[in-house]
Amino acid sequence: MATPIIVGNWKMHGLTSEANEIVSELLNYSNNHEIQIKTVLCPPFTQIAALKEKIKGSPFLLGAQDCHPSPQGAHTGDISAPMLKDVGADYVLLGHSERRRDHYETDELICEKAIAAQNSNLVPIVCIGETKEERAAKDHKFVMGIQIKGSLPQDFNGFVAYEPIWAIGTGVSAQKHEIAEIIEFIREELTEQFGERGKKIPILYGGSVKPSNIREILEIEELGGVLVGSVSIMPKDFLQLLEIAHDFIST
Ligand code: PEP
Repeated sequence: MATPIIVGNWKMHGLTSEANEIVSELLNYSNNHEIQIKTVLCPPFTQIAALKEKIKGSPFLLGAQDCHPSPQGAHTGDISAPMLKDVGADYVLLGHSERRRDHYETDELICEKAIAAQNSNLVPIVCIGETKEERAAKDHKFVMGIQIKGSLPQDFNGFVAYEPIWAIGTGVSAQKHEIAEIIEFIREELTEQFGERGKKIPILYGGSVKPSNIREILEIEELGGVLVGSVSIMPKDFLQLLEIAHDFIST
C-alpha cells in the first residue's frame, strides 16, 4: 500500500469558534510532530478561506464538500469549482451519499462536477456506495459498477471513496473482508475503464472509521486511505488516526 491518505469530512459542522478550536489542536500537534500523511480537511464552505490562512505552512490540506458543474452563472446558493480554488481549496468531495440523497444528485451530475473540479485544478474525491437493501439483495457490486461508470469522467484524475451508506455515521464500520472484497472489485472496474491509469487511482474507504478500527482497515491491500466523517471534528481522535496511519507509511 502507498502512504495512506486521510480525508476529514466536517459535513455541516464548524462555526468559527469550533473550527478554530479544531484547527488549533491540529496545529499544536503538527508543530511538535512530523506529519507525513496526506491529510485533507474538508470544512463547510464558510470556513475554507479562514482555515487557509490558519493552516499556512502546516502539512494540512484543504478541500470542499461539493461544487457546481458550471464555473459561474445564475445558480443561487451554489458554489463553483473556480470559487473553491480561489479561496484555497485543492480537493473537493463529490457525490457523497448525503448529497445523492438530500439533493437527488445523479451519477451524470457528479461526473459533470468532477470535470468542473479538474478544470479548476481541484482533485475530485468521488464517493460511491451501496444501501443496506442493495447489499442485502447482493446487488452491491452491480451498484458500484454503475456508479463508477456513470460518475467518473474519461480523464478522471482524482480519488474514489467507497462508502457503504449503511456504515456512514452509524458507528459500525463495514468488516475488513467486506471492504477488501469491494476495494478489489473497484480496482478491477477502474482498470477496465481506465487501463494502466486505473491501477493507480487511490481508493479510500469511509464509514465509521475511528481509532479502534483504522489499523485493520489500513491493512487492506489496495486501500489508499480513509474518508472520515464524525471523527474528523474530534481533534484528539482524529490525531490518533494520523498517528496510527504513520505505521503504514511506505518507504
Ligand atoms: C462520511 O460522512 O463520509 C463518513 C464516512 O462519516 P462517518 O465517518 O461518520 O461514518
